[in-house]
Amino acid sequence: MKNLKFRTRLFVSFCAVLLLAILLPGFYVYNTLESELLKESREKALRHLDFIEWMLAGEAPFESNAALDRWATSAGEKLGSRITLITPGGAVIADSSVPYKEIRYMENHADREEIRSAKARDPAVSIRYSSTLKQELIYAARKINSPTGSDDLYLRTAYPVSSVENRLSNYTENFLAGLALIFALTFLFSVYLARKFEAPVHQVINRLKAIAGGDFSHQYILDSGREFYDLSMTLNETADRIREQMEVISEQNREMETILENMREGVMLIDRTGRIKALNRSMAGIAECHLSCIGKRPLEAFLNSEVQAACNKILQGRSEYSLTISMEQERYYEMYAAKIPDGGALMVFYDISERKRLEKIRRDFVANVSHELKTPLTSIKGYVDTLIAGDFSINAQGLAFLSTIQKNAAQMTNIVNDLLELTRLEEKPPHLSLQPVEAARMFDSTWETFQPIADEKQIRLDNRLTSPLWVYAHESTLSRVFRNLIDNAVQYSPQGGTITASSEAGNVEIIFAIQDEGPGIAPAHQDRIFERFYRIDKERSRASGGTGLGLSICKHAVAAMAGRIWVKSPPPGQTRGSVFCFSLSRAEASEAITAPTDPE
Ligand code: ADP
Repeated sequence: MKNLKFRTRLFVSFCAVLLLAILLPGFYVYNTLESELLKESREKALRHLDFIEWMLAGEAPFESNAALDRWATSAGEKLGSRITLITPGGAVIADSSVPYKEIRYMENHADREEIRSAKARDPAVSIRYSSTLKQELIYAARKINSPTGSDDLYLRTAYPVSSVENRLSNYTENFLAGLALIFALTFLFSVYLARKFEAPVHQVINRLKAIAGGDFSHQYILDSGREFYDLSMTLNETADRIREQMEVISEQNREMETILENMREGVMLIDRTGRIKALNRSMAGIAECHLSCIGKRPLEAFLNSEVQAACNKILQGRSEYSLTISMEQERYYEMYAAKIPDGGALMVFYDISERKRLEKIRRDFVANVSHELKTPLTSIKGYVDTLIAGDFSINAQGLAFLSTIQKNAAQMTNIVNDLLELTRLEEKPPHLSLQPVEAARMFDSTWETFQPIADEKQIRLDNRLTSPLWVYAHESTLSRVFRNLIDNAVQYSPQGGTITASSEAGNVEIIFAIQDEGPGIAPAHQDRIFERFYRIDKERSRASGGTGLGLSICKHAVAAMAGRIWVKSPPPGQTRGSVFCFSLSRAEASEAITAPTDPE
């Protein structure tokens, strides 16, 4: 029904209503007419029977059955009906429709419906099929005094019911003809109505198409009644509102475009299939493409696997991700990727090349100065050592000066060495050559070098690191981390204190902890002690030969080995002291056997 045309649906609906409205009363009238006609026929049959009985009584008596049959035949012909006389036993003795000679061969009529009914009540009527005359007849029968003087007889009259049928079929024919006419008129009317309604509906459709296509001008559907005029007004209002909304959206889009286009940061939208959907001018500059980037994967546009990996992470469900990437020609970007609600990703690139360049200049400067200082310092230290140890005539005050020079030269050498180490860590991150290293054994051998100082301060080591503890690390870098942390722990531990070394192995990483019972670090300093030259007590640090670079080296070293470092002071469950923790990725012993040795 849904796919049918409007006019067909209208016609079908009309027909359904008409069928219900005409057929039901039609059937009712037909049935009433039929029963009325039959009732009338029955009454007529009885009157007919009375008349024939009266005629028969006027002619009686008959001398024989043959005379009776002759009278029945002539009366039947004249009246146009069948007249039969039947004995109570059912034998037919006269019949107007059967020659007298054949009467004796006729069936016994005792069980005929009208005869049985006439025996029970007088007179009786029945309508049934006559096997003798092979047609539907209306019978009337009654018991009468024998016109031949013998026993009582049954007089039966019959004539065809065709008159009733004819009238009914006439009625049916007229009814059907009327129905056909009504349907034809209905069809024409529904076509007319459909045409009348379709025209404005087409106008409405065209109007809506025009609005969808951006034509917001006012138009009216004319000559179609009040409703369609109201509809036109509503459509015009809707068109106005859509136009306003479109203008607001376009305005916002233009503003957004202007902002995006003039941003120094590169902005790019990735659709849910991982292809570039939109990007601003800065981003096109970074990727060295413009419109040609649209539809490409980030890898194809940027020729950088890290950008593609970041995009994949977001598309796989991560809400945000950031990292620093380097591109050709010394370009560095801080990349920030975030999930957008409809399933794609937003990527923003901040150009940090200038910052990186300045950092490099600073690093190079520090490295150059350190290098330049190293030789004169070694020379100063050598001469001072020689002067102190040699056989020179230097008085006590001179020796005191020399020893101060020696101490400061040593301190400067430490600073220069630490600065060179930091530069090395920043320039060549050792995570490129991480290998499985057994950390517990390395801790033991590092501790051994501090044993004399620890003994001097009667410091006890509670070593809870149980071999083997395999981690991904760079041997000399990890050794440096242990050395700096043990150095600080020993330095800041009180006389007779305990240093505890422990580890906690997770599924992917192992956390190392070196705890002391020293003065601890106030919360305000805890983040800052990992900065270069940051010392809480400068004098104490200098006096003990500290450079203020030890923890900064640890931070860079651990980061270069893909780990983290942090401090808790006081350690959980303690009132004093501090614990330095760092994490490294867990490795398996089996990997150590196959891993190539670090050439460094
Ligand atoms: P330093 O050469 O001065 O030890 P570090 O970078 O190793 O330099 O440490 C920075 C500062 O952190 C130190 O000057 C000191 O104030 C503080 N610090 C480091 N380790 C400890 C510790 N175990 N207990 C208390 N303070 C510490």
